[in-house]
Amino acid sequence: MPQPPRPFEGRTLVVASHNEGKVDEIRALLAPFRIEIASARELDLPEPVEDGASFAANAKIKALSAARLSGLPALADDSGLCVPDLDGAPGIHSARWAGANKDFTSAMEKVHSDLTARGATDARAHFWCALCLAWPDGRCDIFEGRVEGALVWPLRGISGFGYDPMFLADGESETFGEMDPARKHDISHRARAFESLIDACFAAR
Ligand code: IMP
Repeated sequence: MPQPPRPFEGRTLVVASHNEGKVDEIRALLAPFRIEIASARELDLPEPVEDGASFAANAKIKALSAARLSGLPALADDSGLCVPDLDGAPGIHSARWAGANKDFTSAMEKVHSDLTARGATDARAHFWCALCLAWPDGRCDIFEGRVEGALVWPLRGISGFGYDPMFLADGESETFGEMDPARKHDISHRARAFESLIDACFAAR
């Protein structure tokens, strides 16, 4: 029988990311809960090799490594774009498709050209986010969220990051790249994963 998630009762939470933008976003989401946030970079923690086969496995690698090394509970997220017509690619390799210089225009062009090569038009896609809250004793709880939609071409909008300009969430008229960021933050895969995490681990604070 799976155990219920462990509530967060500590004072300090490590955010197991070296991406300060992501740390700031998580700090804002957890602001109502009076938690001190320390980032992996502030604590000078190493970045573990993300060699898991799923978003959840990679989130767990990052969170567990930070929790064990810091002696504090740690939260990590792993996310990406999945295109069923490309057998789920770019998936856990979403960041890697943009190369060392983080060129997401090229990554989106590759998604489009791979779909064209397969004769797949009007492709569906979803963004996926896995969060892992890990503890120094090895306990881990995973929370996941996804948002379903379709891919558009040509790209639309310049807001957001990553694959946002090619993703049109179901029921929306604007891509994530065109949308007001506050609207995206209400409906995104990350928002949904955080809702589950907060309900399970932080709501009682
Ligand atoms: P991570 O930081 O290793 O989780 O990499 C996630 C990658 O997935 C990012 O570099 C983006 O390419 C992509 N991604 C995740 N979430 C989003 C999103 O909300 N919009 C656009 N791209 C995203």
